[in-house]
Order: sequence, then structure tokens, then C-alpha cells
Amino acid sequence: MVGTGLGARRGILIKNGEALERGKKIDVVVFDKTGTLTEGKPKVVDVIACRADPNADEVLSLAASIERLSEHPLAHAVVLAARDKNLPLKEVSDFVNLAGKGVRGTIGNVAVLVGSVRLLLEYGIPLIHCLERVEKHEAEAKTVIGVAHDHEVVGMIAVADTVKEDAKEAIERLRAQGIETAMITGDNRATAEALAEQVGIDMVFAEVLPQQKAEHVRKLQEEGKRVAFVGDGINDAPALVQADLGIAIGTGTDIAIEAGNIVLVKGHPLKVIEALALSRMTFRTIKQNMFWAFFYNVAAIPLAALGLLNPMVAAAAMAGSSLSVVGNSLRIKRRKLL
Ligand code: ADP
Ligand code: MG
Repeated sequence: MVGTGLGARRGILIKNGEALERGKKIDVVVFDKTGTLTEGKPKVVDVIACRADPNADEVLSLAASIERLSEHPLAHAVVLAARDKNLPLKEVSDFVNLAGKGVRGTIGNVAVLVGSVRLLLEYGIPLIHCLERVEKHEAEAKTVIGVAHDHEVVGMIAVADTVKEDAKEAIERLRAQGIETAMITGDNRATAEALAEQVGIDMVFAEVLPQQKAEHVRKLQEEGKRVAFVGDGINDAPALVQADLGIAIGTGTDIAIEAGNIVLVKGHPLKVIEALALSRMTFRTIKQNMFWAFFYNVAAIPLAALGLLNPMVAAAAMAGSSLSVVGNSLRIKRRKLL
């Protein structure tokens, strides 16, 4: 099919021609937050002790002891922060990973829970002492992880991730083209909304569990919208498949790349605009080519049949028509799409 090699020079991998066709008629683009709009390399920016004992370092050490057993990017950030401070890590038993929520385990016979504020509330652990600091961080689009020890909150860890530098421009350009934008994340609502505001996103789906992402895409489709989903993580794969057009971030997980129809090799959100423009341009070119190919033949075949066209000229016209079509297609390669 025409076009699958067209994106190569632009850092856009088009896995099949059908992806281009789907891309030309998109109503809404849904972005995953972490790793797609943000760099996905979170860093601990604040550790808050809710009481005098344990202190902030001890809170971080408790959390890192358990997070060491998790693969989550937030877990890596916590472990790294503890390591930077040379904090001792403790022995953990009964480790449980609570997907999309946090982790839990036992340290020295005491239950320790590390995860989202919502997770702590689910376990019936209120935040009383720390609430103010939590709200301040969330309003700055930071993710706050709660640390509970023996069913009581002992501290909070604020983690910040940088927004990709072209995220805002990508959203603005989509809006200018009349395409709606949405963000979907497992992170809490306040953090998600603060980030959405920073980049100018229209719709926010927050506190979404990994298995519910595809469900949200399906709901948008049921409203009659054609949906493109842009994501990077294992938990994005079902949504990438469900969407009319799945766009995977090339720096993300293999499963997401496998599930996408288009891969943005370096993971820049702005490439989404280029991929959609490439789709439209490809189909416009196909229509132009169809027109010219028909035009030549409809005009020249009757002339040739009536003997009004010298066979040499007819042969040259035949080759010329093919060349013009190929030449017109090659123009796409050089055209600037942004
Ligand atoms: P996203 O959709 O942004 O990739 P996830 O679904 O992986 O996020 O996680 C959603 C939320 O659950 C996180 O924002 C965090 O609050 C919490 N969470 C998940 N795993 C962990 C963990 N290992 N440690 C702390 N918090 C976690
Ligand atoms: Mg992600």
C-alpha cells in the first residue's frame, strides 16, 4: 500500500497503510499522561513527615524498602531518592503489588502501605494531618504518594515529572484543526487537572484503573467519535487496540509498540499532528492520482482508437501518465507537514 514508508524520514513508523486511512478522519485524540505527555521520569521533590516520629528520612526509608520490589516508575523514583541519601532499606515480607494503586508489605510485623491517596482512603486511612501540603503539591501537577504504617498515615512523598516540551504546542495545533483532546491517567484528579490546564487539554479522565482505559475509549466511540489513542505503557495496550487509530510512543514498552498502528519513534507528541497530516496528504494525493490517470486515459484512448494519435506519442503519453502519478506521490516525501 502507498505510504507505509512515507513516515520513515520523519521518525514516524507506519505499520500498515490502513493506519493512514484511519488517521485522516479523527475527531478526538486521547493522550495517556505519564510517559506520553510527560517524560515518564519522575523525581522525588518533597518528603513530608506527618508526625515527629518517624521523621522524613524514616518515611522515605520505609517507602523505599517496599517500592524496591515494584517495577513502577514512581517506585524507582522513591528508591533512587532513598539511595541518594544513603538511607538503610529494611527487610520486607508479604509484598503485594496493587496495580494502578500502589504496593503493600510487612516490615518487622507491621503492615506498611504505599500508594495513592485514594488507596489509603480505600483502606480506611484518613490523611488528617497532611492534607494541606498534599493539596498544594497536587495543584502543581505533582503526584503525592502516601505512606501508612500500622494503619496510620506517617508521611507523604511528592513526585514531579516534567511535561514534554512540545506537548503544549501539539494540543494547540489539534485544537486549531477542530480536533478534541483528552488525557487519561491512573493518577489522582487534582494532579491530572493541574497538568491538563498546563498543556491546555479539553477533557480529563483521572483515577482510571489500568483495565478501564480501553473502556473510556469505547465510550467515546459510542458517542460517534473517531478516536486516536496515544500511549506508552503496558496498561495502554488494550486502549491502543480499541482506538480507531493507536499511536504508540517509541520510547515506551514493547507491548504498546506492538499494539499501535503508528509508532512515534522518539516519542514527541508533536509528531501526532504530523502523522495525521501525513494521512490526509496521502489520501489527497491518491485522489489526485486517480483523477489524472483517468483523465489521460479517457482523453487519449478514444483518440488512439480513432487513429488520431501516433503510436509513438501514445506510448510516450502512457509512460508520462505513470511518471506524473509517481512524481506526484513523491512530493509527499519532501513536503513540510508542520
Ligand atoms: P498512569 O496511568 O499515570 O501510568 P498507573 O495506573 O500506573 O498510572 O498508577 C496510578 C496511580 O497509582 C499513580 O499515580 C500512583 O498514585 C499509584 N501507584 C501505582 N503504583 C504505585 C507504586 N508502585 N507506588 C506508589 N504509588 C503507585
Ligand atoms: Mg504511561
